Amino acid sequence: MSKPERIIVQIAPKTWLMSEYKLVNTYLLEGEDTAMLIDGGIGIGDLAADVKKLTDKPVIFVATHGDGDHIAAAGFYQRAYMNPLDLDRCRSFPIGREMAEFCIRTRGPIRNPETPVPVLMSLIPDAPLPPLPEFQPISDGYVFDLGGRSVEVIHTPGHSEGSCCLLDKNTRLLFCGDACNDRLLVGNPDRNEGLRQSLATFEKMWAREQEFDYICQGHDALDKSDKSFISDYIQAIGDLLAGAEGQPRTDAMHSGTMYPKGKVMVWYNMNMSRMRSGEN
Ligand SMILES: [Zn+2]
Repeated sequence: MSKPERIIVQIAPKTWLMSEYKLVNTYLLEGEDTAMLIDGGIGIGDLAADVKKLTDKPVIFVATHGDGDHIAAAGFYQRAYMNPLDLDRCRSFPIGREMAEFCIRTRGPIRNPETPVPVLMSLIPDAPLPPLPEFQPISDGYVFDLGGRSVEVIHTPGHSEGSCCLLDKNTRLLFCGDACNDRLLVGNPDRNEGLRQSLATFEKMWAREQEFDYICQGHDALDKSDKSFISDYIQAIGDLLAGAEGQPRTDAMHSGTMYPKGKVMVWYNMNMSRMRSGEN
């Protein structure tokens, strides 16, 4: 049984999308002095080794949010950053084999149907992952200087309280984590409160749209994506707050009420187990 290679797509100069076997996206940005790894997947394959093939610069790790499918590789990096609002959330996930097996079993058949589940399972490393590092805090307006390349943190709560987007001014890309995927999961059990928070976030992102050309999503896309995902969400949530309702929907990944609009789906009234409750 041959093991598949990680899919790596250069999406801009010195900028790569590193797909964790179509389950989760991570991104590598290289400046003149420092490289930045945005998110760290569920920990299958050898992300740290694959990063070293692309850059010889020292690497800092930045989590867009604290979900267990985005932080597994963080322990490979001494300098790691996360919004402290997501620290408790991230510590609640069983990072390592249990989390990887869960994500492969539930997400693999949907996100990577052409690769059999046992093949994905074979990518789980035998050695345990290094423990999560002490995350240094980031919040709205924090700017990373990678050397000739600055990346700004924009706090975008909704998917999680601490979710952040990263705006790379050089390439005009906005890295969104799970804030703007094909699906938005509104975790707040209070429908309208959750929707209002998400709407405020999408309006905050859209207020900056002249500073970026594309968004980079945390799942599914294997290239940069059209920024009109954001305006589709603004319309969808506007409909829901004006009285529209979605339909009950259950699939292998999620269960709740789903409202589609344009390219996006808003899921709310989520009904899921703890491990599934927040992560996408
Ligand atoms: Zn996710």
